Amino acid sequence: MKILLENVTKIFPGRGKGAKEVRAVDNFNFEIPDGKLIGLLGPSGCGKSTTLNLLSGLLQPTEGKIFFGEDEVTNLPAEHRGVGLVFQNYALYPHLTVLQNITFPLENLKGDAKLTKEERVKRATEAAKLVQIENLMDRKPGELSGGQQQRVAIARALVKMTKVLLLDEPLSNLDARLRLQTREEIRRIQKETGITTIFVTHDQEEAMSISDMIVVMKDGLVHQIGKPQEVYDNPTNLFVAKFLGTPPINVFAGKIEDGALYVGEDKLFDVSVDVKPGDVYVGIRPEGFVLQADGPLHCSLSRVEVMGRDMSVVAGHPAFLDASIRAIIASENLAEISGDAVNFDVKPGKVLVFDKETEERILI
Ligand code: ADP
Ligand code: MG
Repeated sequence: MKILLENVTKIFPGRGKGAKEVRAVDNFNFEIPDGKLIGLLGPSGCGKSTTLNLLSGLLQPTEGKIFFGEDEVTNLPAEHRGVGLVFQNYALYPHLTVLQNITFPLENLKGDAKLTKEERVKRATEAAKLVQIENLMDRKPGELSGGQQQRVAIARALVKMTKVLLLDEPLSNLDARLRLQTREEIRRIQKETGITTIFVTHDQEEAMSISDMIVVMKDGLVHQIGKPQEVYDNPTNLFVAKFLGTPPINVFAGKIEDGALYVGEDKLFDVSVDVKPGDVYVGIRPEGFVLQADGPLHCSLSRVEVMGRDMSVVAGHPAFLDASIRAIIASENLAEISGDAVNFDVKPGKVLVFDKETEERILI
């Protein structure tokens, strides 16, 4: 099911005297295509859960409209929207078995939607198979691991066979390995069922790895929407550039002068004559450095961390704006590094320039 947000704003009133109101979601306009997995990504407090709750019907927007397919659902109560919801805290019923937890949303269906007990068990078994817990149906939540509990929560959201699945940081309570495994499983289930899914996370790697499209948010505003790789390669501003990628992009103070791009006093390369001269931020992705003895970027060498196939060259530069530069280089080049200095050339496609005032991207 296609989802459309039209000028959607949610303002929470300030609590207490003189408290300021919060624009948790500020004028959202975007369309979520049918059958895709969308990663809603941004730092804590940026309005992700609020957006999800507006879509689920648990919250009403202050302004704007929400459409599911052709139907407006802005004021439709949550129970009539046909969405499956999974939260960070799975909130299973501890005294019910896995089977009873999964069939719970089917118990009180009315009229045409009413199901017999056999039908309910059949649906629950199908959902349980999708998340591979069909052999745990008689257990209670207390007898399951965190990962298994989260799968029960996902099965419970799937059992209604809704057209939309909303997941709010569903993996944050799992350990690293299980998180990786479960996110791949969510992707597989989403592809198998074709259910339009919105996956909320503050973890950029998680969002990038499984989403068809990511929506990057900050302070209630959408900063960029696109395919993960496109957003990584072409961020619209410094915030998006810094938010995506591990290790993060390396940001330097620079300038455009006499038709060339400088980092501090080092001239990196010539740019189009049309680019306005002035102070800029220069972002270089870790994979954008090339070891070169007479390269234009003159850095001090702190240390080298070899990590199998790659090594991380940790370096310094007078114009660098953070703790230390991290360049990712194939470890076979280790022999080229010695002493306390290192020079780099850069791959122009991995160098991103931003206006110093607005922090918007400048195309060079
Ligand atoms: P996220 O899920 O991205 O961490 P939220 O959507 O939960 O962020 O919150 C966005 C902003 O709205 C935060 O500043 C938060 O404090 C505020 N907020 C969320 N819910 C409420 C509420 N019920 N009342 C007042 N402020 C709220
Ligand atoms: Mg949240």
